[in-house]
Amino acid sequence: MVSDAIKEKLAAIVGKENIMDSQAERLVYSYDATPNVQALPDLVLAPRTTEQVVGIVNVCQEEKIPIVPRGSGSNLCAGTVPIQGGVVLLFKHMNRILEVDEENLTVTVQPGVITQDLIETVEQTGLFYPPDPSSMKISTIGGNINENSGGLRGLKYGVTADYVMGLEAVLANGEVIRTRGKLAKDVAGYNLTQLLVGSEGTLAIITEATLKLIPKPETKKTMLALYENIDAAAQSVSKIIAAQIIPATLEFLDQPTLQAVEDFSQIGLPTDVEAVLLIEQDGPEEVVARDVEKMAAICAEAGAASVQIAASTQEAEALTTARRAALSALARLKPTTILEDATVPRSEIANMVKAINEIAEKHQVKVCTFGHAGDGNLHPTCPTDVRNQDEMERVEAAFADIFDQAIQLGGTITGEHGVGMVKAPYLEWKVGASGIAVMKAIKQALDPVGILNPGKVFTENARKRLVVSK
Ligand SMILES: Cc1cc2nc3c(=O)[nH]c(=O)nc-3n(C[C@H](O)[C@H](O)[C@H](O)COP(=O)(O)OP(=O)(O)OC[C@H]3O[C@@H](n4cnc5c(N)ncnc54)[C@H](O)[C@@H]3O)c2cc1C
Repeated sequence: MVSDAIKEKLAAIVGKENIMDSQAERLVYSYDATPNVQALPDLVLAPRTTEQVVGIVNVCQEEKIPIVPRGSGSNLCAGTVPIQGGVVLLFKHMNRILEVDEENLTVTVQPGVITQDLIETVEQTGLFYPPDPSSMKISTIGGNINENSGGLRGLKYGVTADYVMGLEAVLANGEVIRTRGKLAKDVAGYNLTQLLVGSEGTLAIITEATLKLIPKPETKKTMLALYENIDAAAQSVSKIIAAQIIPATLEFLDQPTLQAVEDFSQIGLPTDVEAVLLIEQDGPEEVVARDVEKMAAICAEAGAASVQIAASTQEAEALTTARRAALSALARLKPTTILEDATVPRSEIANMVKAINEIAEKHQVKVCTFGHAGDGNLHPTCPTDVRNQDEMERVEAAFADIFDQAIQLGGTITGEHGVGMVKAPYLEWKVGASGIAVMKAIKQALDPVGILNPGKVFTENARKRLVVSK
């Protein structure tokens, strides 16, 4: 419980208009995009400056009040559910693009900037910020940095971490640090920037970020390859990469996902094939034309039933928009949608998709799979209903098997969505007991009182792993 006296102190820092503590307001911030996890915060604060964040942290560390930093709450790992109550910290006022530096090719932003706004702003000056999570219309840069989010352009351009050059962050003791910055080279000490990337709000509160930009590619082309069997689709992925072509986008959708996406977007996607690959290449016109031609030939040779090249920018846009809507489309099927992001080496994509289908059958649950095939990052998604206790147990068992299978194939339990609460029981499967110990030591050093997003990443109830030898 946060007492009235503490609320007064906090209101004096952020102003009365930026403190919310009614039941209705607390309810709004009691959940995020993750199904079936909810807990009420004691209050919600929306600071306007780094100094105000420092003031809040100082009060909270003294009173041992948890702080849960929150962008748009679109994470899928219950990362912003205030499981131990306390303060939810919103960045809706800290949402300015502070500088686009065309000489150093950087952009400096506050954490509450919406990803798509940043992308569109820098594109006006002919520059390009590649990380494009499907949620970019709503997600914030603070959230992207803390989850190290990826997107459709990840294969060629990398993920958020590859673009974070410097950070301003408020530590749990109220001190402000600045890590690296606009420098192309800087090896002065440990790389604290990258330590904070993907730290899920548990190590520091990011209040400013300097991000790398690159020149905007001249042109792009989009194509769709249709397959009667998943192996041929997976083979196409490997063969394209083996031919030393790195497309900007290389996305996989299985038939049930395709059906849901077409029902939702109604753009005339084929729904009678086993799988499709959505492929995009960007760059100079002649390179794009050459790569697209080569990739079309590779797909056909690998067994694609047909390969269609988008005839116009609008058609291409409609295809990528439809792909970005995959989760929303699948969410229409049942009251609850559980989406995971098991990731394997890209050479194991076909094995992983087949294993997912076998696991779904074993546990008698429906699993639709789509994802960033070029990154080996799959999103097995289960349309279900939390009110059906028996089915939920089977769903949980199926996902445990899926994570186990991903690890056995040399992969991981999460490629881009983070650990949060929901994947914490499985973290040790991936990093081992020593890995957990190192991570806990870092957490202890930076947040000894444990006020920053407690209950995330680590758990007391780790799952035992049942490795089935093959
Ligand atoms: C429809 C849909 C599609 C998605 N597609 C993708 C995708 O393609 N790729 C992908 O990687 N993810 C995807 N996601 C997941 C999610 O959108 C990303 O993780 C995104 O980066 C979260 O941004 P957010 O602003 O909503 O952050 P939040 O969910 O609010 O927060 C995420 C984490 O960051 C921490 N945090 C937020 N701001 C700060 C800050 N300033 N300082 C410290 N910690 C902070 C929070 O505590 C939390 O741990 C998708 C989600 C949905 C619902």
